Amino acid sequence: MQHQSKLPNVGTTIFTTMSALANEHKALNLSQGFPNYPSSQKLNDLVTNAMNNGYNQYAPMAGNLDLLIAISNKYELLYNSTYHPEKEITVTAGATQAIYTIVSAFIKPNDEVIIFKPAYDSYEPSIEVNGGKTIPIQLSAPDYKVDWEEVASKISSKTKMIIINSPHNPSGTIWSKDDMLQLQKLTKDTNIIVLSDEVYEHIVFDGEQHQSACLFSDLKQRSFITASFGKTFHNTGWKIGYCCAPEFLMSEFRKVHQFNVFSVNHPAQKGIADYMQDSETYLGLNSFFQQKRDLFLSLISESRFKFKPSQGTYFQVLDYTKITNEHDVDFAKHLTKEFKLASIPLSVFNENGKDDNVLRFCFAKTDETLIKAAEILCKI
Ligand code: PMP
Ligand code: GLN
Repeated sequence: MQHQSKLPNVGTTIFTTMSALANEHKALNLSQGFPNYPSSQKLNDLVTNAMNNGYNQYAPMAGNLDLLIAISNKYELLYNSTYHPEKEITVTAGATQAIYTIVSAFIKPNDEVIIFKPAYDSYEPSIEVNGGKTIPIQLSAPDYKVDWEEVASKISSKTKMIIINSPHNPSGTIWSKDDMLQLQKLTKDTNIIVLSDEVYEHIVFDGEQHQSACLFSDLKQRSFITASFGKTFHNTGWKIGYCCAPEFLMSEFRKVHQFNVFSVNHPAQKGIADYMQDSETYLGLNSFFQQKRDLFLSLISESRFKFKPSQGTYFQVLDYTKITNEHDVDFAKHLTKEFKLASIPLSVFNENGKDDNVLRFCFAKTDETLIKAAEILCKI
C-alpha cells in the first residue's frame, strides 16, 4: 500500500533526538525543556486527594469548573483582564494540543499564517497538516528583534493568523509593550486571529513585565492565549494546559476540541485548581528561575561561550563562535558524545536551517546539575 505523507519534510523532533542521545551517552541533559527536580509534594497530594475523592470520571468537556474559575481569577489578579470561566477558557492536554486545535479550528487550505523564526517546532506542522501556508519571518541573533515594516509587508488578504511567543523559546528574549502595540496596530480592523503562546508568562527576569495579549484591548478581542501548567508547576509530564479567547472564538475552538481530546485528566485538573488558590505557587517563579540563570551564567562567565542573559523562559542561548565554526547540529551532538552535555541547536527552528552558531541550554535543573554543566562548558 502506498500513501502520500501530509508532512513529507517532518522527521522526529529535535527534543526527542537530543534527549535520546543524552541518555545513550549518559550525558547531562540540558536539551529538552523539563526540570530534573520533583514537582511540589503539596500539589502531588492534592491530585491524590482528588483521586480519593472521586474525581475519576470524565471532566466536563471545557474543563473542571474549579480550575476554570482559578484560571479566570488569575487573569483578573495579574492583568485585570476578564475571561468568563465557562465560556472563554478551555483546559487542554498541554499547550501543544491547544495550539494544534486552534490552528485546525480556523485554518483552511491556502490560508496564510505568519510565524516568527526561530519558532517552536509544533507551529509549522500544525499549519501544514491543515493545508495552511506558513509565512516565516526570520529574526536574527543575538537580539531577535522584530522589524515591524517587514511584518506589515507580509500581511495580505490571505493572512488568517499570526502566531507570537513571548517569553520566547528558544531565544529567551521577550517582546516589549511597543512590540505588542505595533502588532495591535497592524491587525486592527482586520480578520486576523492572533495566537499568543504565553507558556512562559511567569518566567520573566530583571523586573520586566510580561506583555500578555490580554493587556491590549483590541488584541485581546482577536487573540487566543495558550498556557502550560507543565511549565508553571514543574511537571511537564502531566501535559495539562489551557487557552483563553473571546467567546465567539472559543465556541469554534470547542467544536474541534470535543472531538480532538473531548476532555483532560480530571484528578490533575482538580488538584491544580486547589493548588492555585495560593497565587504564590506561580508568582514565585520569576525569582526561582532568575537565581538559576544567574548561578549558571556566573559559573560560565570565564568560558569561551558568549551570551546575553536570558530575559525570560528557562532557556539560555550560548554563542560558540570563539570555539569553532562547526554546524550547530554537529556541535550539539559532539558536545553530547565527547563532553557528556546535551543542548539544543537553534538552526532547527530557523528558516532553511539558518545557523548562527548558537545552542540552547535549559536551566530548569538542580544547582548541582548546573554546576556540573558549567564545569564542562568551562573546559571547552
Ligand atoms: N509552546 C512553547 C513555546 C513551548 O516551549 C512548549 C513546550 N513546553 C509548548 C508550547 C508546549 O507545552 P506543553 O508541554 O504544555 O504541550
Ligand atoms: N517545550 C520543550 C522544549 O522546548 C519540549 C517539548 C517537547 O519535547 N515536545 O524543550
